[in-house]
Amino acid sequence: MNVKYNFNPGPSALPREVLKIAEKNMFNYNNSGMSVMEMSHRSSLYEEIHYNALNLIRKLLKIPDDFTILFMQGGASLQFAMLPLNFRQTGRQAAYVLTGSWSEKAFQEASRTGSAYALASSGESGYRTLPSVDYTHCLPETDYIHFTSNNTIFGTQWGEIPQRESIPLFIDASSDIFSRQVNWKNTDLLYAGAQKNAGPAGVTIVVLRNELVKDTIEGVPHYLNYNTHMKADSLYNTPPALSIYVLGLMLDWISEHGGTEEMEKRAEQKAGVIYNLIDSSNGFYKGYVMPDARSKMNITFNLRSKELEEKFLQKANDAGFTGLAGHRSVGGCRASLYNGVPEEHAEQLAYFMEKFQRQSLH
Ligand code: PMP
Repeated sequence: MNVKYNFNPGPSALPREVLKIAEKNMFNYNNSGMSVMEMSHRSSLYEEIHYNALNLIRKLLKIPDDFTILFMQGGASLQFAMLPLNFRQTGRQAAYVLTGSWSEKAFQEASRTGSAYALASSGESGYRTLPSVDYTHCLPETDYIHFTSNNTIFGTQWGEIPQRESIPLFIDASSDIFSRQVNWKNTDLLYAGAQKNAGPAGVTIVVLRNELVKDTIEGVPHYLNYNTHMKADSLYNTPPALSIYVLGLMLDWISEHGGTEEMEKRAEQKAGVIYNLIDSSNGFYKGYVMPDARSKMNITFNLRSKELEEKFLQKANDAGFTGLAGHRSVGGCRASLYNGVPEEHAEQLAYFMEKFQRQSLH
């Protein structure tokens, strides 16, 4: 295999152990004579996989009993559309805190079906910072406030999301779920595609406070009402069984390796290795974002020129490092250090960066 070190931004690296178990069970899941892909989603065999994954999510994220966990399809992008349809009443408002491309997309989607406004934005800084948020600026008819906890493309991440008072607060945690604990007192709904920190693409986790959900909502298709999926334990229609199975394996792996608390320590350690290297490079590598807004998941940086960045990416690729190009909309370089990336890989990347700098200066 040429790829030794996978820094893909999502879908991204999964632990070898997880892939090995998936491989072992691919043909014959638990001696059932079938693959997970072949079994009925109404069978007890599948139900065990399904409820096991739901239970692990509740345990790992310490989710209180008055929240429901859902498995949805359509990625985080479908959630962008569903949130306003379900939780913004006709003629009322949704507030968005803009911290990057994904929060902009969520905002645009909400603007298509009703009124939404930017409560705060760090767009003027090129999304290098996080904005200060003043909830007293919320319009009186605001039904919810939306945050993106980690900004995958620009590489910023909220430490604590500012404490809201009464308006429900929704979080897109697509790129940092299971890398730290969630403050459920300050969160009413959280969602994330699994494909970065928690497994393969195809399943989206939604955790929501039960009291938010209504039986029917005028003009909203049945399938797009959260209540439909809540009532059916996320088995209203055929679920992405294989994705949920591998998600469960990944959650087992996280549990066995010390849970979310340990993932947080590892994330700090891995990110620290790369940020230290950047900070001690005398400006050869320049971090894209302001130090106090830095993400522990996606480390964005630039080199002196576009040509040097291209050379860096090429050499890195030749040495077995993949996924280091910045998002196509912003360029530069980005190392994504999700849960499946071993600490040793972050260290290897730092060695490589140091060596590349030395060789370029001679
Ligand atoms: N939100 C964030 C923060 C993301 O990083 C992404 C994907 N990279 C999305 C939303 C969109 O996710 P999906 O592809 O699952 O729709």
